[in-house]
Amino acid sequence: MTFAELNLIKPLLTALTKKGYESPSPIQEKSIPHILQGKDIFGCAQTGTGKTAAFALPILQLMEQNKKPNQRKEIKALILAPTRELAIQISENFKEYGENLGFSHAIVFGGVSQFHQVAHIKKGIDILIATPGRLLDLMNQGYIKIHAVEYFVLDEADRMLDMGFINDMKKVIAKLPTKRQTLFFSATAAPDIMKLANTILQNPVSVAVNPVSSTASLIKQSVYFVEKNNKSALLKHILKTQKIDHVLIFTRTKRGADKVAKDLNAYNIKSEAIHGNKSQNARERALKGFKERTLNVLVATDIASRGIDVDKLTHVINYEIPEQAETYVHRIGRTGRAGESGEAISLCMHEELPYFKDIKKLIKKEIEEVKNHPFV
Ligand code: AMP
Repeated sequence: MTFAELNLIKPLLTALTKKGYESPSPIQEKSIPHILQGKDIFGCAQTGTGKTAAFALPILQLMEQNKKPNQRKEIKALILAPTRELAIQISENFKEYGENLGFSHAIVFGGVSQFHQVAHIKKGIDILIATPGRLLDLMNQGYIKIHAVEYFVLDEADRMLDMGFINDMKKVIAKLPTKRQTLFFSATAAPDIMKLANTILQNPVSVAVNPVSSTASLIKQSVYFVEKNNKSALLKHILKTQKIDHVLIFTRTKRGADKVAKDLNAYNIKSEAIHGNKSQNARERALKGFKERTLNVLVATDIASRGIDVDKLTHVINYEIPEQAETYVHRIGRTGRAGESGEAISLCMHEELPYFKDIKKLIKKEIEEVKNHPFV
């Protein structure tokens, strides 16, 4: 299947060729035709599957095809995302895919001054990408009106619920026109997600790709069993001896992330931590450095890592084992993207064994144990 066979218009095909995409990913293949037909979608897919293009491409196409001469600049597409990082990522995607079309887009998220965001919106925009809290705030101040929205996307709805955005979301949805097309994406189809989906979708088409447990097929997974006091030394040993030069390291807590970054820097391994307590500027700087390879080691908590989209990331290290097995799959899915191979290394201490067992049960796969290390 090619993008042209999905009936995408020329300006989009040109942009995709420039991006180097050769063929649609499964979620794109399954969703795009329905979205182009005006259907609501319930998409069960996680980050890394190409879901952003799965909604951004058909929305851009529908907007282009339904364009009226001299139409007013009003927000016609609204995309809600749980984190700033994901919102930025989505906005970059709209920019790239839409570069041959004339639409303007803006992005709003909390944690920074609203000044520039408001100035941008006042100029008039067609597409808005937003996190719920700031959106609601700017709507309440009268800067943003969403009555003309025709396309509404709720991205990572599961994460939205986890992060406690349900009330903000509901308030936003209440202000949307009832006549609209809604695209709902979530990594899971848990009962509370289905309940929310049922309240906002109309006769949706369900599309699902790879269940969460099977995304890891191209990723080499290994585990080191280690006592708590030796974790830090083992991490340095692994980074040094395995010539790992571009790695995302996960911790469960913000404090843990700071500690790991501090430890590594003290050991002359340049690293930075990103998490919710860091300023937006610091997070963006670290992410940019990591993407551009001026920073090779990034330490992140799970929430801060959502939306991190780095091409050809070769390694992920779980410095701490996540409590939710699905989180493990999300984490290691940062590597081995789009058919590239990748490696995921976990450091597991005694207290984390129950979580580790849950992970093995979920992925239905053995994770190779590295036995001969100096910190057994
Ligand atoms: P997403 O799941 O939207 O975060 O996308 C994951 C990654 O896959 C991003 O780096 C996209 O740029 C990339 N991507 C999306 N669609 C395709 C495609 N059809 N071919 C190759 N890469 C893609």
